[in-house]
Formats: sequence, C-alpha cells, structure tokens
Amino acid sequence: MSQSSVRLEIQHLSRAFGGVPVVSDVSLTIAAGQVTCLLGPSGCGKSTTLRMIAGVERPDSGSIRIDGRPVFDARTNLPPEARSVGLIFQDFALFPHLTVAQNVAFGLKTDREAKARRVDELLERVNLPGFGPKHPHQLSGGEQQRVALARALAPRPKVMLMDEPFSGLDNRLRDGIRDTTLEVLKEEGAAVLLVTHEPDEALRMGDEIALMRGGHIVQTGAPYNVYNAPVDRAAAAFFSDIN
Ligand code: ADP
Ligand code: MG
Repeated sequence: MSQSSVRLEIQHLSRAFGGVPVVSDVSLTIAAGQVTCLLGPSGCGKSTTLRMIAGVERPDSGSIRIDGRPVFDARTNLPPEARSVGLIFQDFALFPHLTVAQNVAFGLKTDREAKARRVDELLERVNLPGFGPKHPHQLSGGEQQRVALARALAPRPKVMLMDEPFSGLDNRLRDGIRDTTLEVLKEEGAAVLLVTHEPDEALRMGDEIALMRGGHIVQTGAPYNVYNAPVDRAAAAFFSDIN
C-alpha cells in the first residue's frame, strides 16, 4: 500500500469503561477505495472502535490519522465535523420534514447550483433518479437507506464508517442494497470501515477482514485467507456458522 493512498490509520487504540477494557490496542490501515470489514460477535468492541474514529467517543490512548492528518493523539482531538468522516448507522434516520434532495444536500456548504449537481449525481448513483422532491415517509426502508448513503457521501468524506448498516433491512432486499452500496462506495473512492457481526456479509463486502474478539483484533487479511486459514479454533467456529 503506497503511503499516499492511506486514508485511515489507527494505531494502538484503547478504551475502557469503568476499568473494563473494551477496545485493546487496535491498529488498522485502510487505503482509498478499500473496504475493510470489522467483524466479530456482539459486544466485542466494534461500535466503540467506530465511535472513537468518528470522534464521538474519546480513546484512552492511541492515535488516529485521516488522510495523513492527526485527528486524535496525545495532543489532538478534532471534533467529528472536522474529521472528514461519513457515518451510517442501522438507524439511519433521515430528516422527516426535509425532502430527499434537502436531506442529501444537508452537509454541503457549496453554492446552490453545485449542491443541485451533487445531489443529482448521487441520487443517480444510488438508483433513485428523480426522487429529490419526495419525502422520506414516501420511501421504502431500502430506498431510505440508499438516501442515507447518498447523504453521507455528499461532502466527499475521506473515510466512511458504517455500523451494521444492513441489519434493519428485509432479507430479500439486503443483497441488492449491499451490491449497490459497494458500487457507489468504490466509485466515490472513500476508505470504508464496515462493522458487522455477520461473517457472510464481511466475506461478501470486504477487501479485507479484521476479525475482532474481546476488544482485540485477532486476525487481519483477505476474506479468502481469513475464512480458509482461521487463526484459531474460535475463529474457525465463528465462520462455521455460515450456511
Ligand atoms: P459491539 O459493537 O461489538 O457489539 P460495543 O463496542 O458496542 O460492541 O460494546 C463493547 C462493550 O462495551 C459492551 O460490553 C458494552 O456494554 C460496553 N460499552 C459500550 N459503550 C459503553 C459505555 N458508554 N459505557 C459502558 N460500557 C459500554
Ligand atoms: Mg455494535
């Protein structure tokens, strides 16, 4: 990985709650256009890791660089809005009183024409051309999720953080939305950290999988390698639930 293409670099990140370690010495590097899936069972510290990168949870120690710039270390703690991160959570609440176009344009500080161009471009990308004037309640869950993706990508974040973004969706819709999401993320070129507890989702979406357990990353690698050469019995058992 060439140094210049690195978008997200976290080193030795740790966080405890009430003296209990929840994230321990986590290090990760993600390049532009790369999707890394942070995979592990419920409670292993995935969301806390994501929240620290986003700037809504303060690490006890470690450092975070985005596009080469320190956003957190012993001397630095940039607020979320100064970090160039996009966020998508399971509850991707759109603003109900705003139109789809206004939702997508919400974080944009450009002039009206540039906003309109960016909104059109993104709605096209997420396969919702012409949906701009609609309101969120007129959209299905899957459509709302795609609008949320467009909204998160609108300001061209260097890093996209996604926490179980598909868990709230109908099984039938999920595959299609995963594919659309991947396509759009690749076109936009952000570094993506996608949190999931589902091995099949990580295998399907990740360029790389970081397997997490008890606050530690226990294995990192291409999906094929992590699946075929699990680091220990527990990792093998975790993947063997897939059918
Ligand atoms: P995951 O996303 O992998 O399910 P989390 O990062 O949400 O895991 O949580 C990891 C552990 O940290 C859990 O035991 C959770 O209860 C605990 N935890 C998370 N946030 C807090 C908090 N603000 N205060 C106390 N404990 C927390
Ligand atoms: Mg979580």
